[in-house]
Amino acid sequence: MRGVLVTGGSRGIGRAVARAFAAGGDRVAVQYAGRRADAERTVRELPGTGHTLLQADLGEPGAAERTVAEAVAALGAVDVLVNNAAVAPAADTRHPIAETPLEHWQQVWRRMVDVNLLGAADLCWATAHHLVNRGTGGAIVNIGSRGAFRGEPDFPAYGATKAALHALGQSLAVALAPHGIAVTSVAPGFVATERQTGKLSGPEGERLRVESPFGRVGTPEEVAATVHFLASPAAAWASGTIVDLNGASHLRT
Ligand code: NAD
Repeated sequence: MRGVLVTGGSRGIGRAVARAFAAGGDRVAVQYAGRRADAERTVRELPGTGHTLLQADLGEPGAAERTVAEAVAALGAVDVLVNNAAVAPAADTRHPIAETPLEHWQQVWRRMVDVNLLGAADLCWATAHHLVNRGTGGAIVNIGSRGAFRGEPDFPAYGATKAALHALGQSLAVALAPHGIAVTSVAPGFVATERQTGKLSGPEGERLRVESPFGRVGTPEEVAATVHFLASPAAAWASGTIVDLNGASHLRT
C-alpha cells in the first residue's frame, strides 16, 4: 500500500485521480485550497481507509514543504506525488495581451507562476528529499496541459506555466532516476470537469467537442487512469515522458 499526495483534490481531475489510487489500494492525502466541503466529500467517498485531508494555499511560501510534511505524518510515507493543483483558465484569470491592463496582467502572471510552477516545484523538492532519504524510489506525476504546446492566447501565463511544468518534469526525471524516482507529465486537452461545465453547455460546447475526431471532450477518469499507470512501477521506463491526453485533437486542428 503506497502513500499518495494529490494536490487540488476537491473536485475535477484531482478528485478522479484520488479515487483511482484509492481504488487501487493506496492511501491518499487530498490537498485542497478553499472548497472544504467538496474536499471532504472527495475523502469520504474514497474506497479503503487511512485517507486524509490537508488544507494549503500552494501559492504561499512554505506551504508546499508543510503539505508534504503533513502528508508524511498522516500516511507514514509519501511514495507518489501528483501535482494537479493549478490556477486554471476562468473568467477572472483571462488576460489576452492586447486587451489586458498591466496591473491585471502582472497580477495573473504572478499568481499562476506562484501556484502552478513554484508551488509544484517546491512540492517536487520536498517529496524528492523525502524519497531520496528513504531510498525506496517513487513517482511524481505532473498535470500539465495541451495548452503548453498549442498556446493559450487568452491565458498566456497558464500556457507558460504548464510548459515550464513539463520542462521541470523532464529535468527532474534525469536528476532523480538514479534514486529510482520516475517523473512524468500528462498534457490533457479539454476535460469535462466542474470548472468547464459552463463552457461545455454554452455556445462554445460543440466547437470544443469537435476539436477531437472522437467528437467529444475527455473525462477526468481518463486522465486519472493514465496518471495511475504512470505512477506504477510498470511505467518506470516512461520517466521523462509527456503523455498527450487529448483525443488526437492536436492532430485535427
Ligand atoms: P479545478 O479548477 O477544479 O482544479 C484545480 C485545483 O487546484 C482545484 O482543486 C483548486 O482548488 C486547486 N488550486 C487552485 N489554486 C490553488 C492554490 N493556490 N493552492 C492549492 N490548490 C489550488 O480544475 P480541473 O479542470 O479539475 O483541473 C485540474 C488540473 O488539470 C489543473 O492543473 C488544470 O490546469 C489541468 N487541466 C485541466 C484541463 C481541463 O480541461 N479540465 C485541461 C488541461 C489541464
